[in-house]
Amino acid sequence: MPSNATHVNDTEMLIGGSFVAGTEQAEQVLAPRTGATILEMPEASAAHIDAAVAAAEKAFASWSRTTPGERSGYLLKLADAIEAEAEGFAALEALNCGKPYHAVLADEIPAVVDVFRFFAGAARCQIGSAAGEYLPGHTSMIRRDPIGVVAQIAPWNYPLMMASWKIAPALAAGNTVVLKPSEQTPLTTLKLARLVADILPEGVLNVIVGRGESVGNTLINHPRVQMVSLTGDIATGKKVLTAAAKSVKRTHLELGGKAPVIVFDDADVDAVVEGIRTFGYYNAGQDCTAACRIYAGAKVYERLVADLTSAVSSIAYDQADDAANEIGPLISARQRDRVASFVERASEQSHIDITTGGKMAGGSGFFYEPTVVAGALQDDEIVRREVFGPVVSVTRFSDVDEAVGWANDSDYGLASSVWTKDVSRAMETAARLQYGCTWVNCHFMLANEMPHGGVKQSGYGKDLSVYALEDYSVVRHVMVKFA
Ligand code: NAD
Repeated sequence: MPSNATHVNDTEMLIGGSFVAGTEQAEQVLAPRTGATILEMPEASAAHIDAAVAAAEKAFASWSRTTPGERSGYLLKLADAIEAEAEGFAALEALNCGKPYHAVLADEIPAVVDVFRFFAGAARCQIGSAAGEYLPGHTSMIRRDPIGVVAQIAPWNYPLMMASWKIAPALAAGNTVVLKPSEQTPLTTLKLARLVADILPEGVLNVIVGRGESVGNTLINHPRVQMVSLTGDIATGKKVLTAAAKSVKRTHLELGGKAPVIVFDDADVDAVVEGIRTFGYYNAGQDCTAACRIYAGAKVYERLVADLTSAVSSIAYDQADDAANEIGPLISARQRDRVASFVERASEQSHIDITTGGKMAGGSGFFYEPTVVAGALQDDEIVRREVFGPVVSVTRFSDVDEAVGWANDSDYGLASSVWTKDVSRAMETAARLQYGCTWVNCHFMLANEMPHGGVKQSGYGKDLSVYALEDYSVVRHVMVKFA
C-alpha cells in the first residue's frame, strides 16, 4: 500500500550506462493526496542533455542493426521485470499521482507490461508491399528502418503508461531514446530506468528529468535528435513543431481531447450512466479520452441528468482507506484551481445548473468534487475547452445532424462515443464523426493492438498497434539492377 512512507529509492537520471543526479533548479515532487513534498529533484543541465543524446546516438549504431528477434527478446525481459515489480511501481505511481493504489495495480501496470509484450511480437512481423520487378530488369523492395535518436516527452496523467507507449514502439523499431517524464511525476520512470540499465545495452534508453521550458525545450531543439514525440498540451505541441521546423525533424504528437458522447433517445440509460460515471471521472477526469462532453437526445435528457447526478454524487474519493477510493485528487493545486475556475465561470451562466459537485473538497490534498454541469450550450466554454478534471457537461440536442455537427465542431479530435440500440444509427454516426476513435455503447476501452491517436489539433501520432511502429520507422525503397 502506498503512503508517504513509500520508499523512493530511484532519483537519478540514466545517461548512457551511468546514474547521475541533476544539478540545476530543483522541482518539488508532490504527493497530491496530501500536498506534502515527497522530495526535491534537481533538473538536468545542458551538459547532461548533450551527454544523453550522445549516448543514444552512439548506441544507435549497434541497436539499429540488431534483429527484430533480438530486440523482441529485450522487450520481453523488460516486460517481465516490470511485472515482477508491479506492486512497487503501483505504490510509487499512487504516491506521486494520488491515484488509488488498487486502480494503478489492476489497470495501469498490466497495460504497461502488455504494451512491451505486444511490441516485442509486432517488431517481428512487419508487413509491406511485395518485392518485384516494377521496372523490367530491376528488383524493388521496401525496407522499414529506424529513424535515429528519438526525444520523447511524457505527461503526468499516466506517467509510466505514457512512457511505455512511447518507449516500446520506438525501441522495437530500432531507434534509441532520450525520454523526459513530466517534472511533476518522474518517480516511476526513474524506477524503470534502474530495470533498463540491467537489461538493455548502454545508451539505448536514457532518462533525463526537468521542466518543459528548460530541459524539454533544449531536448526538442537538439540538433542530433531526429524525431520528437510528445504527449501533452496543444500549446506544447506547437512548440515542438516550431522546434522541428528548424532542422526538419519528424514529430509524433498526442495532444489532448474533449470527447463527445452522443446519447440517442433509444439508448440504455442505465448503461450510459454507468459508463459516464466510470469513464468521465476515471483518474479524476485527467484523461484525454474522458467522457466529458455529453450530448443527450431531448427525450432522454431529463432522466439522464437526474440519474447521472445521483450516480456521480456517490463516487468515492479522499477516503482514509485507499481501497475505498474510486478516484484521486487532481495532480496539483494549480490544476485543481484551473478546474474550479472553469466550473465557476460556467455556474455564472443562468442556463447552467451544477447538479452535483462544483466545489473544491476540503483538506490539504488537491481534491475537487465530481461535478455534473447540466444545461450547457454548444458555445459555452465548458463544452468547448478541455477541463481535464472530474467535470462532465450535458447538452440537449434535437436531431442527429445537430448532435454530429456539435460533436465535430471542436478543435479536438481524439475520442468519441455513440450510445444507441440501433446498430444502423450507430454505424452511420460513427462514420460521420471526425475522431481518432469512436466507441459504440462503451467508452475509453483500449486494446494494445488498436491505434490510439487523434485528428485535428489532438495531433496525429498513433500510439499502440502496428501503426505506432510505422510512426517510429521510415519506409525506404531499395532497387537492384540485374547484372
Ligand atoms: P504539458 O504539455 O504541459 O506537458 C507535457 C510534457 O511536455 C511535460 O513533460 C512537460 O515538461 C513538457 N513540456 C512542457 N513545455 C515544454 C516545452 N516548451 N518544450 C518541451 N517540453 C515541454 O501537458 P501536461 O499538462 O503535462 O499534460 C496534460 C495534457 O496532455 C493534456 O492536455 C492532455 O489532454 C494531454 N494528454 C494527451 C494524451 C493523448 O494521448 N493525446 C494523453 C495524455 C495526456
